[in-house]
Amino acid sequence: MARVYNFSAGPSMLPESVLNRAAAEMLDYKGSGQSVMEMSHRSKVFMEIAAETESLFREVLGVPENYKVLFLQGGASTQFAAIPLNFMNGNKKADYVLTGQFSTKAYKEACKYGDCRVVASSKEDTFSYIPKLEKSDFDPEADYVYVCYNNTIYGTTYNYVPDTGDVPLFADVSSCFLSEPMDVTKFGLIYGGAQKNIGPAGLTVVIVREDLLGNARDYTPSMLNYKEMADNDSMYNTPPCYSIYICKLVLEWIKSIGGLEAMKERNAVKAKLLYDFLDSSKLFKNGVNKEDRSMMNVTFVTGSEELDAKFVKEATEAGLVNLKGHRSVGGMRASIYNAMPYEGVEKLVEFMAQFEKDNA
Ligand SMILES: *Cc1c(COP(=O)(O)O)cnc(C)c1O
Repeated sequence: MARVYNFSAGPSMLPESVLNRAAAEMLDYKGSGQSVMEMSHRSKVFMEIAAETESLFREVLGVPENYKVLFLQGGASTQFAAIPLNFMNGNKKADYVLTGQFSTKAYKEACKYGDCRVVASSKEDTFSYIPKLEKSDFDPEADYVYVCYNNTIYGTTYNYVPDTGDVPLFADVSSCFLSEPMDVTKFGLIYGGAQKNIGPAGLTVVIVREDLLGNARDYTPSMLNYKEMADNDSMYNTPPCYSIYICKLVLEWIKSIGGLEAMKERNAVKAKLLYDFLDSSKLFKNGVNKEDRSMMNVTFVTGSEELDAKFVKEATEAGLVNLKGHRSVGGMRASIYNAMPYEGVEKLVEFMAQFEKDNA
């Protein structure tokens, strides 16, 4: 069986060593006589997996003591509602920066619960850049400022952390989680769905500063109440056990290659290979502001919808799959998350160069 290079935006590739390890441990996890999928989440053996996953997460990302690490469900999209329910509790105001579809969805959801303001939006330019924001742009009375750090669909990312003064900054990092070091102390909360970079779908990791917890609206469902989840060590109900276990294996893999500094270096080399090719190509074009380019999601077009479709089809036949852009924007997108090997990007660039020649 030949494995393909999967450029999907999510669910996406996992490191082969992780999959092999999971396969080896499938029928009998460490002498327990069960797979991790089958064991009670309250059993000693699973509690150890959960505790290790949290401690690895803290170690790899450098999460300070005064932050909680929560392993939740519902995907990133559920947090769009959980965030205002838990934190729009002071002046009932929040500031949102719109840099793509996911921040817009988060904003619309939060509007149901209070007074949300759009601080800036790059919509007029089809979300091709990240607005430069200063402290004075934010409302000092806001309960929080919300950003989407890496814009999966458009291929942009923040190259700076906005200074929001005393207002806590919240970030959706779904598509850049653990792709490079991050200064957690600059954020009140960061969160992401696992299926982009850290594991299978079903797990959502929320990292939140402890002092912000405890003031959720009284009608907040328990399942969306971060304080309640934190008080129960993310086991208010059955957690996504198997996804947590795979996340642990991914964290061990990141550690084994040298942690997030090494991860960033690998990702930067892969992204440079692809962007350098795009910049020199006469056929393919990347349309986002150069300094806001994402290392994780690289978008490009030929300028012809027909050629785009032909490219996607022929690439698929060559074992380079899921290169079609998001249905809302068209074109192509190569998601080159942590687990995409350098050779995958190399193959893609070779294929693009040949396609360019053949279709000149
Ligand atoms: C994929 C994605 C989402 C949505 O994630 P779900 O887990 O499907 O809800 C939200 N934000 C970003 C940045 C994403 O990439």
